[in-house]
Amino acid sequence: MNTTAIPELIALERIIELAGSRVEARVVRSVNMQGGRALPVYAVTLGNPDPSLPAAGYFGGVHGLERIGAEVVLAYLQSLVMRLQWDSTLHRQLESVRLVFMPLVNPGGMARGTRANPQGIDLMRNSPAQAQDPVPFLVGGQRLSARLPWYRGKAGMPMEPENQAVCEVVAAEMLPRPFSLSVDCHSGFGATDRIWFPYAHTRAPIAHLAEVHALKSIFAQSNSHHRYIFEPQSVQYLAHGDLWDYLYQQACVQGTGIFLPLTLEMGSWLWVKKNPRQLFSRHGIFNPLIEHRQQRVLRQHQQFLDFLSRAACGHTLWLPQDQARGQHHAQALQAWY
Ligand SMILES: [Zn+2]
Repeated sequence: MNTTAIPELIALERIIELAGSRVEARVVRSVNMQGGRALPVYAVTLGNPDPSLPAAGYFGGVHGLERIGAEVVLAYLQSLVMRLQWDSTLHRQLESVRLVFMPLVNPGGMARGTRANPQGIDLMRNSPAQAQDPVPFLVGGQRLSARLPWYRGKAGMPMEPENQAVCEVVAAEMLPRPFSLSVDCHSGFGATDRIWFPYAHTRAPIAHLAEVHALKSIFAQSNSHHRYIFEPQSVQYLAHGDLWDYLYQQACVQGTGIFLPLTLEMGSWLWVKKNPRQLFSRHGIFNPLIEHRQQRVLRQHQQFLDFLSRAACGHTLWLPQDQARGQHHAQALQAWY
């Protein structure tokens, strides 16, 4: 496949090659581009496939302009692959957890330098999740035109192939398990790094609010100087068609286990403020353009990504039960709703 224009895709294929038989990699869907070119949507898995064990999932590149999201996921995958050569504690960890990677969900958008996929559809507005309350004009998702941003696609159509790929991988690798969590890495919102959890389509709290609050608590306890803001996405804005809302609800309907899908929103305005020239570049609003800043951003988030695989691994030790669950639920309601 011709992947010349996408450095992140070249990097992913190199990592897969380097990993050899230590990981399983497959092309879940191919995205057709103009001129007959096709781009692969990869899923890479490692660790124990036993469905009775927990899983952690890492997703990036859903919005083609937000390259740093794909790069953060690639940096973590690369570090795992390199450590597999010598790190015996990692091998022991992987005996009791499954790790799932889709670093470039929207390679077509990345090749074209657009937020949307090649059909002009915003993948985070394209799921069947429908907001009940009014959403902000355009940004909440619209069906007026693919030429306007935040286009959801035509009503009643199946989801786009990129989203089908994510749904298929989540359904096969994550939902059958007693516990799984995921993070989807984005950039461009505000000046602070945020960890969002569902819902985006309603201000109502999710059924597993206590579990999210407990996860936040153990992260804060073990990383006292972290600078993330944890909040439900609905605190910022409501939107139609959020893919993680849809998959979270699928998990609840199936009822086999707990699935906590998180979104990392890297606050890019801090990078822009330090380097105002970025304002005049389309990529600059979403990505750190200066080398040392990019290195720092890549480093900063590795700890959080690694925390998630450990949290999945040890979920039975921190998931709240009975009375503690009620307390977490009450604290979360007070903090967020
Ligand atoms: Zn995004």
